[in-house]
Amino acid sequence: MTDELEDVYKYVVVGGGIAGVTCVETLSALCPDERILLLTSSNLVKAVINYQKVSKTLESFDVQEKPMSYIQNDCPNVQVLQKTIISLDAKNHILRTDDGCKFKYQKLCICAGGKPKLISEDNAYVVGIRDTESVQEFQSRLQKARRIIVVGNGGIATELVYEVEGCEVLWAIKDISISSTFVDPGAAQFFLPHLNQEKSQDEKPLKRLKYTSDKEMSVEFQKSSLQTPGGALGPDWSTSLEMKGLQSLCHCVHVEYQVEVAKLWSPEELRNACKTETTHTDLPFTQHPGSWPIYVELTNGKIYGCDFVVSATGVTPNIEPFTENNKFHIASDGGLMVNDKLQTSEKDIYAAGDVCTASWDPAPHWFQMRLWAQARQMGAYAAKSMLADDSGDEIPLDFCFELFSHVTKFFNYKVILLGKYNAQGLGTDHELLLRVTKGKEYVKAVIQDGRLQGAVLIGDTDLEETFENLILNQLDLTPFKDHLLESAIDVEDFFD
Ligand code: FAD
Repeated sequence: MTDELEDVYKYVVVGGGIAGVTCVETLSALCPDERILLLTSSNLVKAVINYQKVSKTLESFDVQEKPMSYIQNDCPNVQVLQKTIISLDAKNHILRTDDGCKFKYQKLCICAGGKPKLISEDNAYVVGIRDTESVQEFQSRLQKARRIIVVGNGGIATELVYEVEGCEVLWAIKDISISSTFVDPGAAQFFLPHLNQEKSQDEKPLKRLKYTSDKEMSVEFQKSSLQTPGGALGPDWSTSLEMKGLQSLCHCVHVEYQVEVAKLWSPEELRNACKTETTHTDLPFTQHPGSWPIYVELTNGKIYGCDFVVSATGVTPNIEPFTENNKFHIASDGGLMVNDKLQTSEKDIYAAGDVCTASWDPAPHWFQMRLWAQARQMGAYAAKSMLADDSGDEIPLDFCFELFSHVTKFFNYKVILLGKYNAQGLGTDHELLLRVTKGKEYVKAVIQDGRLQGAVLIGDTDLEETFENLILNQLDLTPFKDHLLESAIDVEDFFD
């Protein structure tokens, strides 16, 4: 243990997730002669590979977990150390780590990600999913499970419910339709038949495990990540994993709509309160009365037992190590507020990725969502912004912040979301154009004042580039609106 000042670095970045790694890689490329330090509590870092620009704002890439040496090999002026930050002295530009080291920086970028918001922090039967570690824990529990309850309605919950086989799944959501973070009730209806459908052979796990780590690393990783969070998972995290429970059934999902968890009961507590599990003869579930280690009471009064609960109710930005005695402005969602240069309210400190909250006046069709593409974009832009501040240059806000765009896969369908895809913030004064071919595609265009504001494209629609352009250039579509989604018509022909 030492309390000596370790070293002084021009640029220090905290966090080995997508945001932090992209930030140091960009810094290194733009200033190969400066000393750059990456501090991360995980001993694996996230590397973005196979990066492809699909269109002006849509991008696709894979994420791979790599040893820390990978960055040092590619970026010789970057030093990577496995350290956990426990405090920050923003006034004196000093970071302190849990092993007593101190690091002085000239400019710092905080990319410490987030932690899963759990419905209960101290219940052994409640698990959250964030990193490779927590997925492994989930998989091993699932192997022995007859029934699980998934709470939450975002991307993680949607993917889990789809992937889990051999186990009854009760999906508790607070909304009127499934997957509401990403899609509207219409698209949810499109997905619904797939909830209890058997997956075809070509939908079985891809086995292209992106989150590779050799055995030695895994042991070390397990030890280190008990206390400190690893990086969040990314694209394809669920498709590459076998998620099988104890039973011989395929998919068996029941959705409870418009509910939250009212209370978690142990078997003893339930007995002492003279309460019993709700009889569910109308559900596809088998009866196992009195044999569950945990019971969940929902706000509709129903009580279900299960082997464990997956809490997939979002993330909380991981800001605690940095805030004590400092004057950060904190957003209502708990993130470090950043301006359009990704600067926090503390001098020389930037933040990027899940830990920050975009607090500038955004472009009309962009908003923040804690997703891997935004973490990558913010990491790269924070690096440019740190350098520009040093050189006194003014840099414009990166083009990627002009339009919200996201590519993902739900129920084995390609899903592309563009702009105000759910009419976010548009009030009631907008119209929706729909084209639905059952089992094949779902296309929704959100129009206001004759102009395209957002779109949901499910299936292989091939409309993404055209729609992206229509949102960006705000062309008046009034003359073509009625034909915009006619499948026999090539939309691009309108604009030649
Ligand atoms: P993280 O990846 O969380 O990295 C944070 C880093 O900081 C880690 O290396 C951690 O070890 C380090 N750290 C934390 N605290 C400290 C400390 N005190 N000292 C030092 N280091 C510290 N997004 C999508 O776009 N598509 C998806 O399909 C998708 N699926 C997801 C599935 C799951 C299960 C999860 C959890 C997230 C998913 N996301 C998805 C979200 C996406 O993964 C995140 O938005 C993104 O990875 C955030 O990157 P980040 O670099 O900001 O943070």
